[in-house]
Amino acid sequence: MTTRSMLTTTDSTTASGGRARRPLIVATARCLLAATLVVIAAMAPSAFAAEAGDRIDLKVLVLSANGFEASFQAWTAALKREGVPFDTLIANEAAPITSDTLTASPTHARYQAVILATGGLLECSALGCFSALDAGEWAALNAFQTRFGVRRVVAYTYPTPEFGLNYPFHAGDLAGTPAQLTTGGKAAFAYLAGAVAIDTGAYGYLATPLATEGPAPFETLVAGPADAAGTAAALVGVHNRTDGFEELVITVDGNASQLHSLLLAHGLIGWATGGVHLGYRRNYFTLHIDDVFLGDDRWDVNDNVTYEDDGATNPVVRMNAADVTRALAWQTTTGLKLDMVFNGGGSDEAIAENGSDALTKALLKARKQFRWINHTYSHPNLNASTQAEIVAEITKNLDWAWANKINLDPRELVTGEHSGLSNLAMPAALAQAKISWFAADNSYDPTPFNLGEAVSVPRHPSNVYYNVGTFAEQLDEYNYLYFDHCTNTATTTCLTAPATYAQYVNSEATIMIRHLLTNDARPHYFHQANLAEDGTLYPVADEVLKRYTTWLSVPLFQPTFRESSLILAQQQAWAGNAGAVKGWVVDGKIYVQSATAVEVPVTGAEAGSWYGGDRSGWFKVPGGDAAVVITEAEEAALPNLGKYEQWQLETQKWNAWKHGKGKGHGWGHGSHGKQGWKSSGKGGDTGCSSKSGGKSKSHGESKSGGKSKSQSGKKSGKKGHH
Ligand SMILES: [Zn+2]
Repeated sequence: MTTRSMLTTTDSTTASGGRARRPLIVATARCLLAATLVVIAAMAPSAFAAEAGDRIDLKVLVLSANGFEASFQAWTAALKREGVPFDTLIANEAAPITSDTLTASPTHARYQAVILATGGLLECSALGCFSALDAGEWAALNAFQTRFGVRRVVAYTYPTPEFGLNYPFHAGDLAGTPAQLTTGGKAAFAYLAGAVAIDTGAYGYLATPLATEGPAPFETLVAGPADAAGTAAALVGVHNRTDGFEELVITVDGNASQLHSLLLAHGLIGWATGGVHLGYRRNYFTLHIDDVFLGDDRWDVNDNVTYEDDGATNPVVRMNAADVTRALAWQTTTGLKLDMVFNGGGSDEAIAENGSDALTKALLKARKQFRWINHTYSHPNLNASTQAEIVAEITKNLDWAWANKINLDPRELVTGEHSGLSNLAMPAALAQAKISWFAADNSYDPTPFNLGEAVSVPRHPSNVYYNVGTFAEQLDEYNYLYFDHCTNTATTTCLTAPATYAQYVNSEATIMIRHLLTNDARPHYFHQANLAEDGTLYPVADEVLKRYTTWLSVPLFQPTFRESSLILAQQQAWAGNAGAVKGWVVDGKIYVQSATAVEVPVTGAEAGSWYGGDRSGWFKVPGGDAAVVITEAEEAALPNLGKYEQWQLETQKWNAWKHGKGKGHGWGHGSHGKQGWKSSGKGGDTGCSSKSGGKSKSHGESKSGGKSKSQSGKKSGKKGHH
């Protein structure tokens, strides 16, 4: 192990640019479940060209000329998203780079990878372009990378022979340019399907690799169009430098939100670090359907308002039995589940008015095929409600669910319109009702916050509006908000012409898929109206999934409401701790040391779960001076992996509680990471057996299944555009 595979390029294991190949496991939610065992094998994949006994710190160095390059911002964003520790060095401002910058001793590297924002770290002005590093700094950097075999990524460059490429045969906006993983690219980006979408506004160059150069041929990982001679351009490829380390070269620019940046980021991090780094990422897509059993007020396409409770002119939009059938079929087709965020009062009222309710029958018949979340009984705005009123709304809806054999986690709550979160009575009400997790709107409150011990789960809004049943209504409201009656703001860009339906779908899908590609466990929320009539959810969701499956080969996870919170908390805790935690590799073993107990995300250890060609998990590192070998550490809970089964398990416990044993047991007010089932000893204070009749509602619903939205619908759609 003293010499490294990177230079022995005849070794077949280096065909993908030296990255150690591990068996690819087709990752499904099911097989990922099996990964709760800690694998005892102690050797991590050899990632570095270090000598025996060398210590390589698990940290990335990102170099920028001035801190403003799009590629610099894209890289820091990507590393943050996955929780990969890094330092930035802005060459214009920082002290000169010396070997002390890069090494702690002759055998101790401070960094495992070096990212250059641009080739040569150039700064250009009227006087010309100059490197922000001087010759001595380049010499120190190169010597360091040669000594330890630390890889370099040139995040964006003009192609020249210096980078193993010919001069470009084309330059310009490469938006939509066909780009495809090569065989080597498929190994380095195993989570991708093959096609790489080059986003709009991406300037770049098309250049072919030099025919002969360096100790081994340039290896293209992402191929672009061919030149006149039929040789494919290398948009991304690995250049084997003559001075003994590898550099990955990218000839298309990319900022932090462009799709090709988001698609490639994880594989680029993996390549740069030899596949071993701190950090963890998965792709998530949870869909909440709010207001189930209620009707939603309808947008008036003539008056461009949403009249409340004006069912005579604009009948409320409410699902029917056929809509349930369609939703079930969609679940079957996509393999995804919908979370029904329900108001039992809508069902009771419809039955009271009409004697029966086909929607209720259809949903209850299919109740085990959906997931369910409490949305209060009658959907009142809780901003001015008393504690008793809030608790009654929460528990009455639970009573309704239990009476109708709906399984759910009673600790989860979505208030109507996310209301009541500033109500001073809310913390005590949540505690009394044993609520642990409540919903917030991500466009206002993207960071989880506490109300008492309960914590918020930010949910992504969208421009799939709550108050539309037909495509025509959806498009009319969208164009009203973004064209007819639009003012440009920091977060809203008005259209210059009315959108077509296809343009609207494209815009929404583009916003939404970024959430799927950014390690973001926040749920998306929609409304029952979007499953009714024309089914306005489906074109958008289907377009998101079409793009996802075109570009990616790994499954999506659908964390429950509670699991979303646990994932966010885990990420948040790590973001706060990462700077104080030391990780390093010696002789292939991964060590982590922390003064305080932490959960550490690790990718590339021989433990954890497989996902898209690499293995990763969260590991418990006890506080103290001792360094822990990661493969000998206890794996932390992985709330985002296969926890649908976990949810069912808890539901069984809950069933046991509600069927007769309720007096002595309750759902604990779960703290993060705990499963929360415990004996409360208080007995019956969530009212499971005492309130089945319920008290009469007093929240002014005036029609079948209808409810009052106390805020105007005019503004509701705006939230989603960001
Ligand atoms: Zn609602």
